[in-house]
Amino acid sequence: MTKPNCPQCQKSDRVEKVSTIYVQGIKPDAELPGDKAAQNALRTLSQRLAPPAGKGQGLTRPIHPDLMVGGFTAIVILIIYNMAASQLQMVLPAAVLAALALVIYALTRKKIIARFEKKQNNEGGSQKKAEAAVGRWMQLYYCGRDDLAFNPLTKASMPPEAVRSYCVDPPPGE
Ligand SMILES: [Zn+2]
Repeated sequence: MTKPNCPQCQKSDRVEKVSTIYVQGIKPDAELPGDKAAQNALRTLSQRLAPPAGKGQGLTRPIHPDLMVGGFTAIVILIIYNMAASQLQMVLPAAVLAALALVIYALTRKKIIARFEKKQNNEGGSQKKAEAAVGRWMQLYYCGRDDLAFNPLTKASMPPEAVRSYCVDPPPGE
């Protein structure tokens, strides 16, 4: 694949993909080319070109409130059922309490669901944003002559330190 020309020096001989440099720089010492100084330089550059970080979310899927209440109800019914065998006098109060809890949930359900869905939408939005930011980062190149990162599609260029903010919050029209 031919590399794009740097918008500063108009050459491509010192151009490398930002993501390639970054991945190189996080490899173990033994896999890095050059002497110690060259390796250190690569590591430093790699860190300067690091991708925009996600928020580390999305590991756990939030449980829908209805599902949660349904699960608790099943457990409570099981407990009450077991009570019937050993503690018959407790069955009625327990059943009344459980029914009361369900009534309260039914009354507040609309609000709880609305809050849940709002949160879901927000997280979906920021997830999309993070994905778009990494997508932009994947398109960037870096010119070693000018110490400049650039987007070959839009010719936008920036110092390595500005790569993350460029990806997260690109200028209008990109
Ligand atoms: Zn250049």
